Amino acid sequence: MAEFDFDLFVIGAGSGGVRASRVAANHGARVGICEDSRVGGTCVIRGCIPKKFMVYASHFAEHFEDAADFGWHLGPRSFSWPKFKAAKDKEIDRLNQIYHRLLDGAGVSLVKGRGTMVDAHTVDVDGRKVTADKILIATGGWPFKPKIGGIDHAITSNEFFELEEQPRRVIVVGGGFIAVEFAGILNGLGSEVIQIYRGEQILRGFDSDVRATLAQEMRKKGVDIQVESNIQHIEKTASGLIVTCEDGAILETDCVLYATGRAPKTAGLNLEAVGVELKKNGAVVVDKYSQTSVENIYAVGDVTDRINLTPVALNEGLYFADTVFGGRERVMDHENVATAVFSQPSVATVGLTEQEAREKVGAVDIYKSTFRPLIHTLSGRDEKTMMKIIVDRATDKVLGVHMVGPEAAEIIQGLAVAVKMGATKADFDATVGIHPTAAEEFVTMREAYVDPEAEAAE
Ligand code: NDP
Repeated sequence: MAEFDFDLFVIGAGSGGVRASRVAANHGARVGICEDSRVGGTCVIRGCIPKKFMVYASHFAEHFEDAADFGWHLGPRSFSWPKFKAAKDKEIDRLNQIYHRLLDGAGVSLVKGRGTMVDAHTVDVDGRKVTADKILIATGGWPFKPKIGGIDHAITSNEFFELEEQPRRVIVVGGGFIAVEFAGILNGLGSEVIQIYRGEQILRGFDSDVRATLAQEMRKKGVDIQVESNIQHIEKTASGLIVTCEDGAILETDCVLYATGRAPKTAGLNLEAVGVELKKNGAVVVDKYSQTSVENIYAVGDVTDRINLTPVALNEGLYFADTVFGGRERVMDHENVATAVFSQPSVATVGLTEQEAREKVGAVDIYKSTFRPLIHTLSGRDEKTMMKIIVDRATDKVLGVHMVGPEAAEIIQGLAVAVKMGATKADFDATVGIHPTAAEEFVTMREAYVDPEAEAAE
């Protein structure tokens, strides 16, 4: 392999690319990686991590209010966006440095610049030609904005993290992960938030009870969710932005935030010219080993548009490196991957939705519980938690577990282990609860919920 500069060259130093390069280097490979932005990728620099800090910041508003009902005397309070931003940026800088050190420590060479394929073994990085036996594409995704008039006046999550001032009025467009998370963050921080979604209910693809519960709770907290609506064009005026909707409604705002999905970032990589097959949406087509249609070129993470989550990219990167450089064949299992939405209240889920389960196995039993969390029996806050278990009636196997409520992600992570292991409802029932918690509800639901319509359809 000595005729090449590297055994492995990775394009993109985000979660998947960095993990793959470090593991491959630990297996003894000579590894290089290129990045044209900051090392760390979407998750660390402009995604999960700064977003979670914002969710924490936003939650304090309710914590302060609730504290008063527990006897605390609170003085005047206000939120400083610049102070928060400085603290957040400092931490992101620190994490970025850690990523640099991790690459250094593993002996991975970082080449700054944008990589473009020249041939199956050569990458051009801003004019410098680098050759490698194997190449890994790990360029992630990039926010997509529809082409409507005045779209340049709208920002995406990328720019949101860089705003120097908190917008007083915001319109969030979309009904997916990012839209509900940012609508919740801004609403908690005191902005007036309108969320515009083209479909009839937010969070398409999630369980219908999750969707309905979250929409109801977000509206109670003050987010003005407008469904079956879309923006036609945006105009900038001296006092802000004027938004005209398709139904003719006119809204005035300070900021329009588009969260209308993310597209695989393959433009300009020259992949098709070297024979790498792409899907219609630009995603790299890969097999279960993350191998593309060109034998020595692989791809992991969002650029492959399988399940677009950081931990999935990390595992795909790890399994690729173990298989190709570690002599240990490993295949990523994309089934029953738990996921969370850091909305307010939060959502977490693992396994099938009720609809998917009915389509897949036919008869299912549904266990459902909606209750006011203990803390709010004293605070008086009108917030409901919803939990749901979907069970295959024929085998008693738990097919899906869903929650809307505080700490949903922390709770579902543990239950994901049980679902992954094939736990039955009897296993859940045989588990003793931890009292008093919300999570214990998952092991104490005894009565199946009967939905007359669904029963009739079976
Ligand atoms: P999503 O795909 O989740 O949602 C996109 C939303 O935009 C949908 O509601 C979609 O509507 C709507 N939409 C798409 N195109 C248009 C259009 N032309 N006009 C109006 N509305 C449109 O994407 P996100 O941007 O929210 O997030 C991207 C990905 O990032 C997620 O899929 C997720 O994998 C990942 N992510 C994960 C997070 C987490 O784990 N907590 C947090 C943030 C992101 P419709 O439903 O009708 O298609």
